[in-house]
Amino acid sequence: MANQLSQSVLKALRDYIDKKECGLKLKAQYFDGMIMPPSEAQKLGQWFEYKATGGLPPYGGGVPQAKTLKSGKLATSYARMEEQVKNFHTLCKKYNVKILSIGDEKFNYGQAKGTPDIVAEIDGELSIIDLKASGLIRDKWSDFGWEDIANPYKPKVKILTQAMHYKYIAQNLYGKEDVPFYFWVFSTTNPSDHRIIRVEIDEDDYALHERELSDAITFLEKEQKRGFKAHPSLQRCSGCPLAAKCPHAAPVAEVEVVYYSSQITT
Ligand code: SF4
Repeated sequence: MANQLSQSVLKALRDYIDKKECGLKLKAQYFDGMIMPPSEAQKLGQWFEYKATGGLPPYGGGVPQAKTLKSGKLATSYARMEEQVKNFHTLCKKYNVKILSIGDEKFNYGQAKGTPDIVAEIDGELSIIDLKASGLIRDKWSDFGWEDIANPYKPKVKILTQAMHYKYIAQNLYGKEDVPFYFWVFSTTNPSDHRIIRVEIDEDDYALHERELSDAITFLEKEQKRGFKAHPSLQRCSGCPLAAKCPHAAPVAEVEVVYYSSQITT
């Protein structure tokens, strides 16, 4: 039974409760130890992180391999990320980054656990750095786009949860009032574009996060007894490695109901 949750499981559980994630897939990935085959974008990001820091993917899969052309040269997307590896090292010099650990697996506190890409001193200050390789580095509209992530009306919770989770662990684990958390985001489409985003979290939100972790573990325990439910959809099932043997797999589109009214309700 899980007594500590990673931010990935927490986000997957939220999606499961909203019926945006399949319970059978969630259970296989996070509780039965099944390694999900990474997407092409994930493979590229894993290779970039490995070349930048030497860190291996936290969910297994071994040393990431680059995609190459027949000539033996790196495929275009990988050649771009090779440039970004150089940018990473330049940034480390410019901001006086002294790396203390890569992929620390003992990073946990209370009911929370994580695997920070980098724990470092930045100009002497203990900090957490998470590396991202993204094609949405200037995108405002996607939930995964890096523009305007903390918009007060529509915060990008999928992104911000990681910052909150890691800051919460770090300040308790290291006994510090605040530990800075940075996303270092490197574009997969423009080899010179990158961003450093430091996320600050409102003090009151840590108590809410702690409460959500506790509720999530209680929910998880109940769901493990009741059995996780399948939430099939054409999109989810088409990329699911369980699909071949899954009796719930959706081979065609389901009916989506949308509600519209021209009347404004109060
Ligand atoms: S095939 Fe579909 S229903 Fe079955 S486990 Fe995968 S996502 Fe869930």
